[in-house]
Amino acid sequence: MAIAKGYAATDASKPLTPFNFERREPNDDDVVISVKYCGVCHSDIHQARNEWGNSKYPMVPGHEVAGVVSAVGAKVTRFKVGDHVGVGCFVNSCVGLPERNVDIEQYLPGIVGTYNDVEADGSTPTYGGYSDSIVVKEGYVLSFPENIPLDSGAPLLCAGITLYSPLSHWKAGPGKKVAIVGMGGLGHMGVKIGAAMGADITVLSQSLSKKEDGLKLGAKEYYATSDAETFKQLAGTFDLIICTVGVAIDWNAYLGLLKVDGTMVLVGAPEHPAPVHAFSVIGGRKALAGSGIGSIKETQEMLDFCAKHNIVSEIEKIDIKDINEAYERVLKSDVRYRFVIDIASLG
Ligand code: NAP
Ligand code: ZN
Repeated sequence: MAIAKGYAATDASKPLTPFNFERREPNDDDVVISVKYCGVCHSDIHQARNEWGNSKYPMVPGHEVAGVVSAVGAKVTRFKVGDHVGVGCFVNSCVGLPERNVDIEQYLPGIVGTYNDVEADGSTPTYGGYSDSIVVKEGYVLSFPENIPLDSGAPLLCAGITLYSPLSHWKAGPGKKVAIVGMGGLGHMGVKIGAAMGADITVLSQSLSKKEDGLKLGAKEYYATSDAETFKQLAGTFDLIICTVGVAIDWNAYLGLLKVDGTMVLVGAPEHPAPVHAFSVIGGRKALAGSGIGSIKETQEMLDFCAKHNIVSEIEKIDIKDINEAYERVLKSDVRYRFVIDIASLG
């Protein structure tokens, strides 16, 4: 078995530290990837700190994994050594199921997370992309379009698809007024992708400090939610609201911004629940929905859409030794707009 180098959380309250571990032996249908870059998703922080209550340690986070194929199994047909590839949030989707459902696989019980999970054998832990290599079944590997760089493209594999999927499902496009709540890793991808789909995008951020960036990335309007006037001024305005905030906020206030028959989609996944009043959705026949990442098929569609529209993430590259400081900065909304680990810094 190959020894991989990485960084791991060893329990919920300790900083991430260097961690060497064995990658599983590749099978005939596996692709071995030399990891070059890995995005830092807020979900990595929730899980490293056991905020969702399901963490297993040691945990090597990272599900925005971009790299180069270093070996392929005998039955692999779609990839060859040297190809630029990505791995997103899951590495299997049909464990215990009679067949793979390529359209909604991310919602089915056969899913295996890229980290904090176990492989199809039920015992081998999965370790993510804060490491120098990963072994993944061919069917769960994404092909990087030529014009998408590995560094700024890595965050598309979670942040990109997590916004693309609901924007596409709820038909964001010309004539649709869409609000993105939170201008962070996910939010800034929502602005770019939603604008490229032709929708009229408004950012609802805590302050106006990132307004200039938001408008540059494609938003038509930008409001501060710290200003109570925003909620009066924008009442009944939006067809679709996508909330990317990872802490519990007053969803009722945001539901008030929807038009009749509008939908608010939660993608942010706070540790704590937030109360919803029935009257927030009864008046106006509104819907409160959720959305999780996307299938591999849809993720490839998203990568090709981003290639066509020249969309990548705005990133700040970091050395892996600075990961704990990066987590603290994400928690303070002090990142523009995604940290990406340069895996070469593992040495
Ligand atoms: P992020 O970069 O930290 O962005 C979240 C943004 O939310 C911040 O930039 C900030 O934007 C806003 N925010 C933070 N604290 C707030 C507060 N107290 N009140 C109001 N707004 C606040 O995180 P991310 O990586 O985009 O992830 C966001 C959430 O989505 C996390 O919970 C993550 O676990 C979840 N997630 C879900 C999926 C899925 O499939 N559903 C996939 C990936 C991630 P402003 O500064 O503009 O206010
Ligand atoms: Zn993520």
